[in-house]
Amino acid sequence: MATFCVIGAGVIGLSSALNIAKQCRGCKMTIISAHSSPDTHSNHGFGICGALHMDKYDSPKYVKWAKLTTQYLRRVMEANSSESAENGVREVSMYVVRDKDGQNEYAETHLFEISRFSRPATQTERQSIGLDAKELEYVLERKDCCEDDVSVLKLGNWVIDPDYYLTRLLKELKAMEARNDIAQLRLINKEISDFSDVMGDAVMYDCIINCSGLASRYLVPDDKVVPIRGQYLIMDASDVTDLIRSDCDRATFICPMLDKVKVGPTHQVGRSDTAVDPNDTRELLRRCESLCPKLRNRRIIKEAVGIRPGRIGGPRLEVEFRKFPSSDRPVPIIHNYGHASKGFVQHWGCAMETAELVMKYAISNAKL
Ligand SMILES: Cc1cc2nc3c(=O)[nH]c(=O)nc-3n(C[C@H](O)[C@H](O)[C@H](O)COP(=O)(O)OP(=O)(O)OC[C@H]3O[C@@H](n4cnc5c(N)ncnc54)[C@H](O)[C@@H]3O)c2cc1C
Repeated sequence: MATFCVIGAGVIGLSSALNIAKQCRGCKMTIISAHSSPDTHSNHGFGICGALHMDKYDSPKYVKWAKLTTQYLRRVMEANSSESAENGVREVSMYVVRDKDGQNEYAETHLFEISRFSRPATQTERQSIGLDAKELEYVLERKDCCEDDVSVLKLGNWVIDPDYYLTRLLKELKAMEARNDIAQLRLINKEISDFSDVMGDAVMYDCIINCSGLASRYLVPDDKVVPIRGQYLIMDASDVTDLIRSDCDRATFICPMLDKVKVGPTHQVGRSDTAVDPNDTRELLRRCESLCPKLRNRRIIKEAVGIRPGRIGGPRLEVEFRKFPSSDRPVPIIHNYGHASKGFVQHWGCAMETAELVMKYAISNAKL
């Protein structure tokens, strides 16, 4: 019987565990995590999936993983549309407000392939966002612009509410154990300081799956892993129902969730401090109210900070073999970490590939 140990219970760890369990029926699965939902960094995510922006680390693999994720989200919606709250997945329209000059660059990417649809917003739709001509300079970060300099795209995207979604992934794993699809599911709340902490004499795994996000910086160790601080606000604005994004360096999102509106966040590379910074709050309010004037004078329900697991060069998804004192042969470690600002949009595709790597490299090790 194959025995697996997933380190991490964020969106990457839980989706990897679920895909492995589906591929390897009858296995024993242990998930070790220092924190679990609602206390992971994933719980801070806005969960926007579909066409986001491309950055320098986005490779064809990114497009592949994002496509597989959005195909999966389509299936979730088709199967369970009446229970979308419980699933934590919703179809939403996203307005992208951007400088007209950058339009071709955006269209050149493959990203439209991973949206449900994409088209220019109509005049009525533009008006419904309430874009304030005076504020456009601030939104677009350039001087002397007027409303005509702005193009607004409408994209069909999805939003995952992390609190609901992580609960659902775990529920699915527990249901697999209850149906005997997997032999055992163990959830262990523990912070490890080295992979050998999980490979003691008494516990031997055929494969370790490393989904520890930021902690991979010292666990692997991988000095390409960098924290990216994201402070954001939760606002009392249930009438704001459109997802809006400004497409510039200081990208700003107005993201209606199932029961709240998240706005922001900051993108502070190299910072991992989690205390709320009042200066960031002021700046976020200014940015968000400029992009969505409806937010003016609304109550801030909460200010919060999440840290994205950035990685120079993009996510690491590959196998490494390590020898441990307690094992007579090298053990495969499948690394799946470093998804930065795009963990949700890539998670399912990465989890599928993780399960494939487990089947390829670990099953021959396992006592099936
Ligand atoms: C404000 C904000 C907004 C975002 N918006 C979006 C968005 O709209 N779309 C999108 O695609 N992405 C978004 N992201 C990014 C996304 O949230 C992350 O890429 C994703 O959550 C990373 O998931 P993860 O499971 O790798 O990391 P984490 O959620 O950090 O999970 C890591 C897990 O490993 C465990 N762990 C860590 N160290 C140890 C240890 N030593 N021992 C044992 N366990 C350990 C942790 O306890 C946790 O369970 C956003 C992020 C932030 C902060």
